[in-house]
Amino acid sequence: MTPATESGALADARGGPFDVWWVRQLSEGLECLHSEKICAVFVNLFLPDSRGIETLDRLLLVVPQVPIVVVCGLDDEDMALRSVQRGARDYLLKGYLDGYVFSRALHNMIECKGLEDALFIEKEQARVTLDSIDEAVLSTDLSGTITCLNLIAESMTGWSREDAVGRPLDEVFHVIDATTRKTGRNSVELAAEYNRTSGIATNSILIRGDGIESCIENSAALVHDREGQPTGAVIVFRDVSAARAMTLQMAHSAQHDFLTGLPNRMLLNDRIGYAIALAPRHRKKVAVLFLDLDGFKHINDSLGHPVGDRLLQSIARRLVECVRGSDTVSRQGGDEFIVLLSELQRSEDAAITARKILHAVAAAHSIDLHDLHVTTSIGVSVYPDDGLDAETLIKNADTAMYQAKENGRQGYQFFKSAMNVRAVERQSVEESLRRALERREFTLQYQPKVNLKTGDVTGAEALIRWTHPTRGPLSPAQFIPIAEDCGLILPIGRWVLLEACRQAQTWVDFGLPNVVMAVNISAMEFRDDSFLDNVFAILKETGFDPGSLQLELTESVLMKRADTAAAVLQKLKTMGVQVAIDDFGTGYSSLSYLRKFPIDTLKIDQSFVRQITSAPDDTTIVTAVISMGRALHLRVIAEGVETKDELAFLQAHECHEAQGYYFSRPVPPDEFAKLLKSGLAELIGR
Ligand code: C2E
Ligand code: CA
Ligand code: CA
Repeated sequence: MTPATESGALADARGGPFDVWWVRQLSEGLECLHSEKICAVFVNLFLPDSRGIETLDRLLLVVPQVPIVVVCGLDDEDMALRSVQRGARDYLLKGYLDGYVFSRALHNMIECKGLEDALFIEKEQARVTLDSIDEAVLSTDLSGTITCLNLIAESMTGWSREDAVGRPLDEVFHVIDATTRKTGRNSVELAAEYNRTSGIATNSILIRGDGIESCIENSAALVHDREGQPTGAVIVFRDVSAARAMTLQMAHSAQHDFLTGLPNRMLLNDRIGYAIALAPRHRKKVAVLFLDLDGFKHINDSLGHPVGDRLLQSIARRLVECVRGSDTVSRQGGDEFIVLLSELQRSEDAAITARKILHAVAAAHSIDLHDLHVTTSIGVSVYPDDGLDAETLIKNADTAMYQAKENGRQGYQFFKSAMNVRAVERQSVEESLRRALERREFTLQYQPKVNLKTGDVTGAEALIRWTHPTRGPLSPAQFIPIAEDCGLILPIGRWVLLEACRQAQTWVDFGLPNVVMAVNISAMEFRDDSFLDNVFAILKETGFDPGSLQLELTESVLMKRADTAAAVLQKLKTMGVQVAIDDFGTGYSSLSYLRKFPIDTLKIDQSFVRQITSAPDDTTIVTAVISMGRALHLRVIAEGVETKDELAFLQAHECHEAQGYYFSRPVPPDEFAKLLKSGLAELIGR
């Protein structure tokens, strides 16, 4: 599109590797552009059918992609410059035109166009790629201004490409830490700081423009120019909300009970461990409450499991309401729950919660038109008193829970270590004791009392023996105190008295030497209203001589309610029944009561007799008791004599009688009969 003057130069250019169309008017040129594939346009703006800058505009409108070079005269250079500003690729001045210049310009332009096209395709490829991957990509320049973002990034940030480009990164890509909810460190800055990939941040939350949050994983990398200088950054991120929710869900189900949603044993153990670790620092205690529903099985069996399940859910909700947010309610399976109370001021505070729980659980649960009533028993153990680790605390709370059930349901019980072992032991002994009499498990053995001058067997002490059906022989020390506590000592004592009198009368009937039969009487028996009546009835029943019966009582029995004791003793005296003070010296040893009560005999306790051999320098008590007895005209008997030296000492101090393994252990009746016949004279060395 040039007038004749330029045609020369163009004609020269025609010799090159180009096809050149030469037209004189714009309309012709536009036609040619339509019909041919034109690579470049050279145009003189002043044509017969179009003049000035308008010529360029009309061309650009038709072929915006085709490079246009304006050819102009020296006077029109201004317009040529304006043309370049509007979109012309370059301009050439007429005065400097020749075939070579044309050809160079054409070459450059076509090459440049080729590069541009390639670049465009490359960019386009990159854009399509970015838009088709399922990760969000954002790029910024060095100052952190957004330069580009892909489709996913648009939807995840809530920003359109047009709005986002040119804005600061923080505004479009608003990220906080999932745990602290503080604004995370700008990943571009981080990437810049290390001048490398910043790695992946896995715990971030992206807040979309409309406030909706999503969990993301993001990474950033710097972009460098050819000199290695950073020019910007690319941030890649993806939505991991679903994956994270799934992970959380899995972690939750591993640690929670599916039915109630409460923490399970595993999580509870963790929490107890944590509470224990913190407790000493805050000088606090930790309590573990072990709950077991009373009669839940019955509800489950009669109304069906679905109702049972809903009852458990209802109970779970009430339990949670009874405790503070920092406490833990957990289900152990079945109808067992464990409540952890952390940071307790005093162990007694656990009782307050226990009562609250008893109350809450007991209130009616309305389920499927049923008003269900269920109670619970609670065992309580407290850190550090009852255990130093979760396992021990749970075990002890469990033990205490059983105790609570035994004490009657719908109650709570604190764990008491030693007491508990004893209580369990007692419980089993007591149960068998109740049946021991009717099952004839008791027997009596007799231990001889020996006159220290003559060697005659003057008396017998009846000592009870119990052969437990499964445990074998139990010593009186193991079961008499229990029998005393539960009142069983009354029927047992009656049996002993009857059996001893019957046995003694049998010996009399056989013509064996007369002996005084001594029977031990417990405090409870002695204080029982029917005690005297029983003694007299038994004497009558057996026909045994009251004067040959001796009751062994301890000092403490007489000292408590001394007045009534004196009256009872007086009545025995009247009947002729003898009374001995057992274990003398270990109790009150008040001389005044010795005078006040009608007593026949003092039995020096074994421990003082033992002193004769173990501490020969300190035998004052033995000698004092012997002389005291003599002064009060009481007979004195030493019990627990085991050695010849003890015997010799007692004889030297003129103790009247003695009893102990040195002469004989307690023996069954037939053996005792033999002793009665033979006597023990040779043993006393006289
Ligand atoms: P206790 O009345 O002081 O009975 C004496 C205890 O000392 C008996 O123990 C006897 O076996 C034991 N003993 C006798 N000689 C010696 C010895 O030389 N050395 C040693 N180390 N011990 C000796 P046992 O039979 O085990 O009775 C223990 C306690 O049980 C009795 O103490 C008595 O308080 C009570 N007990 C036994 N039988 C009856 C009973 O029928 N009724 C009542 N209420 N209590 C009884
Ligand atoms: Ca005794
Ligand atoms: Ca004794």
